[in-house]
This record gives sequence, structure tokens and C-alpha cells, in this order.
Amino acid sequence: MEEIAHEVKACRKCPLWKTRKNAVPGDGNPSAEVMFIGEAPGYWEDVKGKPFVGAAGKFLDTLLSILRVSRSDVFIGNILKCRPPQNRDPLPEEIRACTPFLDRQIRVIEPRYIVTLGRHSTAYIFSKMGLQFTSISAVHGKFFEGQVLGLNVCVFPTYHPAAALYSARNREASENDFKILKAELERHGVIKA
Ligand code: URA
Ligand code: SF4
Repeated sequence: MEEIAHEVKACRKCPLWKTRKNAVPGDGNPSAEVMFIGEAPGYWEDVKGKPFVGAAGKFLDTLLSILRVSRSDVFIGNILKCRPPQNRDPLPEEIRACTPFLDRQIRVIEPRYIVTLGRHSTAYIFSKMGLQFTSISAVHGKFFEGQVLGLNVCVFPTYHPAAALYSARNREASENDFKILKAELERHGVIKA
């Protein structure tokens, strides 16, 4: 995992290296049973080189507290490791260039559960599973069992935590998904009841 992070920090495989302050390889337990995948670093992530340290990250901490896990229990990564200018959506060629790093992280971690945060990470993981991604509103809060890179995993799509910054309704929708996730993780002994 450290070798991957080292390569990410030196990477110039897509043009985003030119505008980054820091690459954000991801953080947490390299043998986590639960892996979270976001979209791309934002302003503060780029400044600090760590995932989800801005406003969306603060809400992600609230969601993790529903599970009663800390960041060091899980692994938190992103589809893109460098910030797109003005936080624009990732481009297909950026996703193609960068996701070999994510794939290597998944192979190292071998997570039992992958929680995809938002449509970009959900669409990417669904494509790996041979599933058609429709929309986040159609698939959020449900479990999808299948194979990702030859590993048996259970994928749980949910909203991106940044969506929660826009309305109380979005916050409740995210929190409700995490309550569903909590019950499943307890049932399978991944977290203590
Ligand atoms: N949004 C993301 O998708 N990832 C981060 O690391 C921060 C904000
Ligand atoms: Fe490399 Fe990914 Fe950064 Fe592009 S976004 S420069 S592929 S680490």
C-alpha cells in the first residue's frame, strides 16, 4: 500500500498532476474489511494530501460514527487521486489513467464490503462487476454481491457525502443508508452490535 501511495505522489499519467498541490492516495487500514470509495480530492484534500478532510469529510465522519468505526478501521480512497480544477467531474480519460491505482488498492485490501460514495465510484465498481449502472437514486441503500477483480465482494452504493451539504433531506437519506449498512455489518460480525 505504501508503494502505491509513493507511485501516486509521483504520477504524471494524466494532466491533473500539473494543477495539484498534493496527490491524495487514500488513507486507513490496508487490510480493512470495509472500503469507501469517493470521487476525487477537493480543495482541502488537495491542500492536505488526505481524503475527505473538508466539509464533505466532516459529514462522512458523522456517517462513520453511525457505524461506530473510526477512520483507521476502514480504508477511504477515491476514483481520482488528484483534484480536478474547480472540482469539475472526472473525465473518462482521467478515470482510465488513474483507476489502475484504485484497482491495486482493492487487490491489497481485499475488502468484504465496498461502499461507493456517489455516482462516479458506483458506476466504476458496477462496470467491474458487469452490472449496468442506472442512477444513484435507483441503487443506493441496497447490497450488490458479485466479483470485483476476482474478489467476492458486497457493494453498497450510497449518496456522495457532499450532497448532504445542500439539504437536510439529503443528510437524512445518507444517514438512513448508513443505518441499513450498520445492521448488515453487525449481522455479519464486521462491526460489534
Ligand atoms: N470528495 C471526494 O469524493 N473525495 C474526497 O476525498 C473529498 C471530497
Ligand atoms: Fe496520476 Fe491519477 Fe493524478 Fe492523473 S489523477 S496524475 S492518473 S494520480
